[in-house]
Amino acid sequence: MRNVECGMRNCCEGSIAKRRPPLHSAFRIPHSAFAWPALLALVSIPVPMRAQQWSVNSLDRPRPPVVDPGPERPPVPPPSDATVLFDGRDLSAWRSQDSTPAKWIVRDGYVEVTPGTGAIVTKRGFGDIQLHIEWAAPAPPEGEGQERGNSGVFLMSAYEIQVLDSYDNVTYADGQAGAVYGQTPPLVNASRPPGQWQTYDIVFHRPRFAPDGAVRDSARVTVFHNGVLVQDNMVITGRTVHGRRARYEPHPDALPLLLQDHGARVRYRDIWIRELR
Ligand code: MG
Repeated sequence: MRNVECGMRNCCEGSIAKRRPPLHSAFRIPHSAFAWPALLALVSIPVPMRAQQWSVNSLDRPRPPVVDPGPERPPVPPPSDATVLFDGRDLSAWRSQDSTPAKWIVRDGYVEVTPGTGAIVTKRGFGDIQLHIEWAAPAPPEGEGQERGNSGVFLMSAYEIQVLDSYDNVTYADGQAGAVYGQTPPLVNASRPPGQWQTYDIVFHRPRFAPDGAVRDSARVTVFHNGVLVQDNMVITGRTVHGRRARYEPHPDALPLLLQDHGARVRYRDIWIRELR
């Protein structure tokens, strides 16, 4: 098929292109001593590091640059086709993992983790989704690193987008706010200070499994943290776990959304979801 680019190439072929040296000449070894340093400099340019080139939870992994996302903003009404999971009044769409009523505290338009009561999960299961969720880490901050404002948004109860107070708080890059936990750090650190409301807007495509349980398609996720892109259609390499390589375990096409109790009194509000079909 002919497209604009091909057309341009074709129109050049009779003039400039024919005068070009063949492509392989670009890879000829230069003969002059002057050219060797340039070649060595080229081959030593680092290529972008991929997720699996770092050990899980490595403190040596470079931490992403800090970006100021601007001031916190009040919630806006959800789109008309969204399923509202929490509107600030009750946890009727949620339960505990053992199927007893959700035990987190609802007050003043938000729900707060009650440490020790365990995660809460949606009563319904979901697969491919768009999710909006807002959260705030405790202020003043308590603890350091992973102990400061830790919670998590577990897509399909299995794939964690980390919630952490990552404002002026050093921890391993694949464990800070907006990370696919233990796999991929956020592109940037777009955290607001503790106590301020922060947003995640997430697009998630679930994994697909073959009948024999083999992974046909890995899950993918896009995340905006406070409106700033932090995961760009990123492959999820398996169920997120601490301290070891992730791997997939076959599961149903729809599973509950889970919010983690990691012992910190993180607050959530304005949670809605759109199923992608
Ligand atoms: Mg967490």
